[in-house]
Amino acid sequence: MVLPAPVGAGVYNVYTGALENTDNVVPTAAQLGLEPPRFCAECGRRMVVQVRPDGWWAKCSRHGLVDSADLEAQR
Ligand SMILES: [Zn+2]
Repeated sequence: MVLPAPVGAGVYNVYTGALENTDNVVPTAAQLGLEPPRFCAECGRRMVVQVRPDGWWAKCSRHGLVDSADLEAQR
């Protein structure tokens, strides 16, 4: 499964915004189902996050919007 860049790039931790240098920083779809990302995985910017009863969307001003419904469709 390929995650969109704002959650799957693996450069920055999507929950802490910290620069990552390990190989297992990409969150799984299951993790993202429980907790929405806060930072763009590609550039580390804080994303605009909106939580809905059935999921969430998160938007990086540079890398675009990710919707949890799209991640679930890829499972
Ligand atoms: Zn970004």
